[in-house]
Amino acid sequence: MAPKNASKMVVVESLADLRAALSAQVGDWGFVPTMGALHAGHASLVERACSENPNVLASVFVNPTQFNDPRDLEKYPRTREADIALLRNHGVTVAWFPRHEELYADTFRYQVSENLLSHELCGKFRPGHFTGMLTVVLKLIQAARPTRVYFGEKDYQQLELVRGMLKAFFVPTELCACPIFRDEAGLALSSRNARLSQTGISTARAFARELAHPEHTLQSLRTSLETLDLSIDYLEDHDKRRYGAVNIEGIRLIDNRPLSTHHESQKESKL
Ligand code: AMP
Repeated sequence: MAPKNASKMVVVESLADLRAALSAQVGDWGFVPTMGALHAGHASLVERACSENPNVLASVFVNPTQFNDPRDLEKYPRTREADIALLRNHGVTVAWFPRHEELYADTFRYQVSENLLSHELCGKFRPGHFTGMLTVVLKLIQAARPTRVYFGEKDYQQLELVRGMLKAFFVPTELCACPIFRDEAGLALSSRNARLSQTGISTARAFARELAHPEHTLQSLRTSLETLDLSIDYLEDHDKRRYGAVNIEGIRLIDNRPLSTHHESQKESKL
């Protein structure tokens, strides 16, 4: 059965068209910001938004200010027609492809920076990334003024930074955290996976498996990952969660898992 909004989805680009499309509907709006190359992980956020709101907005914008590496930006997959089809099939009300010149009419003179968590984990390896991300998320949310916004736990550090920003700036939009969507082998779906070879996918799955292994210490995890064809950016535990970032075939992948009770009791016994 086609979802309720399947045939009606509106595709907009300009802020004027976005405002007209938003004001054409009554009731709450759920908002799912993305960078496109959409997959089942994004679809899980859209489905949740559709189940909790009468209207759903999804944006697709490859935000240049959050790419510290210009080659990474250039190679980021762009699949506009397939993205439109996925959003339409999942019942999205409005698909928004923002225009760079409108979002960045200030030429990035104004920025949102955070001074603590943004320097940890991915922040150490991607200078400026979180400033670009927070700035564009605030712009998108202020332009759309949704009731709820949906972020994936896949990018857990991003989720926590957005949570803090919304609180710090009294933004009334409710933040909804969505679980990580994984393939049958436990690999977190990512737009970047599309750039891996079959061998690279196997390595990425081994990384996901080792990160989830309940008995690994950080040291034993590192030792087992060193046998694989990848380079490690970081492996760290914070607030009962294990975070990892690796590079496989030049593609940077991140993942995280809640620490098991086994890890917690190991830590306690060391105190
Ligand atoms: P991106 O297009 O990578 O910027 O992701 C857009 C949103 O989808 C972010 O909130 C991500 O955390 C979320 N997301 C991406 N992949 C997954 C996944 N495998 N499971 C859950 N959420 C995801």
